[in-house]
Amino acid sequence: MRYLLRKCLECGEYTFKEVCPYCGGSVRVPQPSRFSIEDRMGKWRRQQKKEFYKRMSNSETGV
Ligand SMILES: [Zn+2]
Repeated sequence: MRYLLRKCLECGEYTFKEVCPYCGGSVRVPQPSRFSIEDRMGKWRRQQKKEFYKRMSNSETGV
């Protein structure tokens, strides 16, 4: 593949250019496998956080 779709680190827009045409930010080529792992970790982390706060508020009302 000649054209690699890159993603702007600043605004998250996709572009074929080496610099984001939207905000001028730096871009990188997203790696699908790594991306999904990051996404999963993010989801997991968000859920843990959610559970943590849920437990916090639950114990607060419980006591
Ligand atoms: Zn951008």
